[in-house]
Amino acid sequence: MPTLLDMIFPKSCTICSKYGEYLCDRCKKLFKKSIPECYICRRISGGYCTHEKCMRENSLDSMIVLWEYNKLSSTLLKKYKYGLATDVKDTLELLIKERMEEIYNIEYNKKAFCIPIPVSYRRLRERGFNQTDSIGRCIADFLNIKFSKNLVYRRDGSDVHQSLLDRDERFENKIDFYINSYELFEKIEEIVIVDDVITTGSTVEQVARVIKSVRRDIKVKGLCLFRGKPFYKKGEVKTSP
Ligand SMILES: [Zn+2]
Ligand SMILES: [Zn+2]
Repeated sequence: MPTLLDMIFPKSCTICSKYGEYLCDRCKKLFKKSIPECYICRRISGGYCTHEKCMRENSLDSMIVLWEYNKLSSTLLKKYKYGLATDVKDTLELLIKERMEEIYNIEYNKKAFCIPIPVSYRRLRERGFNQTDSIGRCIADFLNIKFSKNLVYRRDGSDVHQSLLDRDERFENKIDFYINSYELFEKIEEIVIVDDVITTGSTVEQVARVIKSVRRDIKVKGLCLFRGKPFYKKGEVKTSP
């Protein structure tokens, strides 16, 4: 039974605009679930854990990826980022929780903290908000752990739009993260860093590096919504797109 509100503002699919639901069945099928893999070598690994042999000094203990990155993900994230409709937010957050329920039988720590990938104050002033905050909050809420958006901060100007740089420059582009509260770190045993899309995971690793420079024994995990499918070529592994 449609409500009065539905009649005035009929629901339509966030992705394709088809009237009916906020996410139509056809578009829902476009969400391709990720296969648990090690984020470094991109080969199967239970619980999305980093293989011991792949671990380097600042590697994350695990990197959970919810879905494969495709055309749908970019459309959805663009709408989410620019806050065109609160329905988009609700739809995405509902999907995140559904997907988390499927994969998060992995043990979690009550003394864990969830943080978003930080954006610099300058970027925040320009944009008014950090869209990864609400994704982070949603995940913290699901895991029943604390959320902090200010535990780590980012140096102004370090978040030059990554796509404006070519691959080599991107590699050279130094990103600086700093710790805000050293006191809080004493009580934390695990940190989950949330991002929307990752390619190599190097930005998340940079946050891990600054965290591990304060406490070596802290567990640092990553959780991102989308990542391109891996493809293997002559022994090396690349990420598409
Ligand atoms: Zn649709
Ligand atoms: Zn590996």
